[in-house]
Amino acid sequence: MPFVALGLVADLARAVAAQGYTAPTPIQSQAIPMILAGRDLLAAAQTGTGKTAAFTLPLLQRLQIHEGRVLPAGRPRALVLTPTRELAAQIADSVRVYGRHVAPRTALLVGGVSMGPQFDALRRRVDVLVATPGRLLDHLSQKTVSLAGVEILVLDEADRMLDLGFLPAIRRLLALVPKRRQTLLFSATFAEPIRQLAGDFLHDPAVIDVAPRNAPADRVEQQVHPVDSEHKAALLSHLLSAGERDATLVFTRTKHGADRLSRQLERDGIRTAALHGNKSQSARTRALDDFKQGRIQVLVATDIAARGLDIVQLPRVVNYELPHVPEDYVHRIGRTGRAGHAGLAVSLVSADEVSRLHGIQRLLGRQLPSSVVEGFAPSGGRRSPAPVAPDARRHPTHRAGPPTGERPASSPPRWPARSETVSGDSSRRRHHHNPPRRVATTGDRA
Ligand code: AMP
Repeated sequence: MPFVALGLVADLARAVAAQGYTAPTPIQSQAIPMILAGRDLLAAAQTGTGKTAAFTLPLLQRLQIHEGRVLPAGRPRALVLTPTRELAAQIADSVRVYGRHVAPRTALLVGGVSMGPQFDALRRRVDVLVATPGRLLDHLSQKTVSLAGVEILVLDEADRMLDLGFLPAIRRLLALVPKRRQTLLFSATFAEPIRQLAGDFLHDPAVIDVAPRNAPADRVEQQVHPVDSEHKAALLSHLLSAGERDATLVFTRTKHGADRLSRQLERDGIRTAALHGNKSQSARTRALDDFKQGRIQVLVATDIAARGLDIVQLPRVVNYELPHVPEDYVHRIGRTGRAGHAGLAVSLVSADEVSRLHGIQRLLGRQLPSSVVEGFAPSGGRRSPAPVAPDARRHPTHRAGPPTGERPASSPPRWPARSETVSGDSSRRRHHHNPPRRVATTGDRA
């Protein structure tokens, strides 16, 4: 079905065609007519499904930039709230790209950068304002922006905004937006807090659920490698150096861990940068840009920093540590296998993480294939059927040397799962169909 069949005007359909999109994705074919009809929307859709275009295109059409209302400077007609700076920047890019023939005025208000250029942007007409909640509140307190003219409000990645503790900020912001408005809420899941938020702020919404909840992208092959925690860094270097040097996004649980691992990989000769919330915005932008342009092979990131990054054709994601929350696993691996490309998601799992792995498998409703990489067999006895000791703790992490196969002195945690053994790059060889090294990005198309 072509985009015009959804009711989009020619100017928007042309911009979409220029992106090479031949047909709408499921979220687009369901959401666009609803939004054009003026309905509120509650949509469960993960990043990677095309949800940005699903709300941006009809939003631009409804604003009728050329014939519509013109508000004084600093009074946006549409407001898009997102949890992270990177996601906000991507959405602002998308608004410019999809709106190239209708020329909306867009402003981006995010933290971590100076307010000066944002003040300048707000001294002009703003059609679409894309913002993170904290920085928007800063501007509101300085009265440099007013939300009194907002006609369309988008809450993107609402579940993550709640996870990050933005609920009070969102409630404060919603109190400043006119009651008569159209509200579109996107979330990866319909967990209870999201339903509550929707109940409080949406009016008779159309409900769309495009992907089975918590289902990872279809095209992502998942693989678990059991390994002792103190050998994870060496195993990662081994996997990254074997065969083709694919662009890889590596997740750690902590900012400190991301920095440490990034330094370690650099020492092993792998071009790496870290991306996390303690980095300055310019360092974050540079790291992301270097990664997208192929100047570095590996980006080591925490969940929050990586949330919503749109890096098309990212061949591989590695969970250096499993996340605390099983749903985050789904978000992480959704960074690869995007926009119809194949992807590989590898998890390095130490014995103290086995219960987390079980949580993830319960969420997915299936076992993940597990294989020991030759030379990196966990010392706890991977073939043992014994359950994980409840007091099993992570071994102290230290600079990993070559694995010795020796057991630690204290009683080792044990791997309950059966695993086959593979050589370091065999899991990669299965992925010869992956796209070449360079990663394409939405930024590229702008
Ligand atoms: P999103 O879920 O909005 O982050 O989009 C994921 C990726 O899908 C982005 O790189 C978009 O450029 C791409 N995309 C969006 N809509 C389509 C479409 N109809 N056909 C092909 N790719 C698309």
